[in-house]
Amino acid sequence: CKEALTTPRRENPTPSKSEPEGLVARPGPPAIVEGIEGCIGNTPLFRIKSLSDETGCEILGKAEFLNGAGQSSKDRVALSMIEIAQEQGILTPHSGDTIYEGTSGSTGISLATLARAKGYLAHICMPSDQAIEKSNLLLKLGAIVDRVPPAPIVEKDNFVNRARALAQSHTGTASSQGRGFFADQFENEANWRAHYGGSGPEIYAQCEGKIDAFVAGAGTGGTISGVARYLKPLLPNITIVLADPQGSGLYNRVRFGVMFDLKEREGTRRRPQVDTIVEGIGINRVTANFEAGKELVDDAVRVTDAQALAMARWLVEKDGIFIGSSSAVNCIAAVKTAQKLGPGHRIVTVLSDSGSRHLSRFWAKAGDVGGAVDTKLESVLNA
Ligand code: PMP
Repeated sequence: CKEALTTPRRENPTPSKSEPEGLVARPGPPAIVEGIEGCIGNTPLFRIKSLSDETGCEILGKAEFLNGAGQSSKDRVALSMIEIAQEQGILTPHSGDTIYEGTSGSTGISLATLARAKGYLAHICMPSDQAIEKSNLLLKLGAIVDRVPPAPIVEKDNFVNRARALAQSHTGTASSQGRGFFADQFENEANWRAHYGGSGPEIYAQCEGKIDAFVAGAGTGGTISGVARYLKPLLPNITIVLADPQGSGLYNRVRFGVMFDLKEREGTRRRPQVDTIVEGIGINRVTANFEAGKELVDDAVRVTDAQALAMARWLVEKDGIFIGSSSAVNCIAAVKTAQKLGPGHRIVTVLSDSGSRHLSRFWAKAGDVGGAVDTKLESVLNA
């Protein structure tokens, strides 16, 4: 599986001038891999045509929604956390051990899928305001799901603390007396290491080393830290940009060195609590995984829900790309980065999951994209 995470499987087709695009024979499909976990990693990187044409930059999207297990970037992290726990003897395959996790959904879905593949049980705690299709899917996968009222991290019954407490008090079930393992994606450094060993080298290889900026949001911080730690030593001039949704404290941390966090909220610099419908990114504390790369982050772009909704609609309207809320935030920040750097630069961003994970919440707000619409990019940025 490790090899599957790092060895490029897909090669770029080289269309001959005489043949129409789309009918060209591809050099060869990927080799046979072992199990569903073999379908994780080596995702395509593609030019987002509309955004590239509009900005004069090359804006490339890493199609992380094509990871084969839980269909998001979190597949890499779930596999890494499980494999390292197995190496350390904390988990034993087909033992009926239970994996506990606090998650906005994607990591839970990846863990629940891989738990099935490797003979574990999954017990997932998620905030109750996240899109219902994610918890429905978890139930289909046979996970135990606790939908926990949304609460700050310091609250005892926050979704992460609930998962940790359950793992600590694990006594097994009638059908399985295995051990309990708290995956802990926020603090477990197997997270950023999965991107350091996977997404980072893949992006570098796919771009043949020519990248001017990498743009990503942070939920745990694993993606931005892991990719930045891989790329920055190889490309010292690369700009690493955090895409941050409204209500998150990381933007201030990157731009001004202070996070208006929970301690400060009690003082005079109280940060107004702004909510967001964006799922999976934005946080008000520095996690171990963000800490691992935070000195490498050069800039931050704050993105409103209205901009994210407008960008999600734009990508369907212009390109037929149907993505989730965090990917839309990333694309707004990628365009702003393109405008800042000027034409001729190459910007890589992450398309973390599909819009189908967000139908009941984010896409319910975004509405249906009509037939003959002709939106201007300017109005997306000014939404
Ligand atoms: N997008 C989605 C949909 C996610 O679920 C997550 C992870 N919570 C992210 C982006 C952010 O990735 P990371 O945790 O690596 O910062």
